[in-house]
Amino acid sequence: VLELRDVHKLFGENHVLTGVDLLIEKHEVVVLIGASGSGKSTLMRTVNLIERVDDGQILLSGDDITDPRAATDKVRARIGVVFQHFNLFPHMRVIDNVTLAARKVHRMPADEARTKGVDLLTRFGLGDKVDEYPDRLSGGQQQRVAIVRAILTDPELLLLDEITSALDPMLVGEVLDLVRSLKDQGSTILMATHEMSFARSVADRIVFMHQGRILEQGTPEQVFDAPREAATQEFLARVT
Ligand code: ATP
Ligand code: MG
Repeated sequence: VLELRDVHKLFGENHVLTGVDLLIEKHEVVVLIGASGSGKSTLMRTVNLIERVDDGQILLSGDDITDPRAATDKVRARIGVVFQHFNLFPHMRVIDNVTLAARKVHRMPADEARTKGVDLLTRFGLGDKVDEYPDRLSGGQQQRVAIVRAILTDPELLLLDEITSALDPMLVGEVLDLVRSLKDQGSTILMATHEMSFARSVADRIVFMHQGRILEQGTPEQVFDAPREAATQEFLARVT
């Protein structure tokens, strides 16, 4: 689904991605871990073309999306994104937030989008919130709405960046349960998280980023229980 080839990103003098190679297969859940500033968010933002790479290539299902001729909106329409701060539109009801992109970008008929939206919201325990405004929802509920919005059009890839880190600890579990059910349904997911126990339980593969590149990767057992690199060991000792 996704392939990064020697991706570099600089912010001025700051070389933030220093040659990232990564291949994600269909139905795979890949979790990025690493210290603050190691480049996890930047990596995800290059995939969504929020940041342009300075060197290297990114292929989405074989299409080179870093080609300057690639249409940004078409690429973004194929990727579902949820970031730390849920950015639901406060003046729109939940159902309208959830279906907006499907209707406007994907030209899905309004009744079809609504049916699909209600179905997904109901499946994820938000059936009674369909016509509410976002500020009447808890943070966890809002973040679940943001996830429903991201999956409504069956994206090829889901990018989830620290989706629980702005939440009250009490509300983290319900959001992580939703991610787990997306995995069970076969979604392809690239996520960054500081929730190590969740990373261990949901990831097919853990990728440890260090100074803008992938230092080590493997199954959760390999990376968490038998890290090979000193930097990985130090990081895990600090966060677990
Ligand atoms: P965290 O765990 O805190 O989320 P991260 O691994 O996601 O960290 P990034 O947000 O990717 O790290 O940041 C990597 C580096 O890139 C940092 O040094 C940061 O200051 C720099 N950086 C990120 N975005 C920008 C930007 N828009 N302009 C300039 N520098 C940036
Ligand atoms: Mg980040």
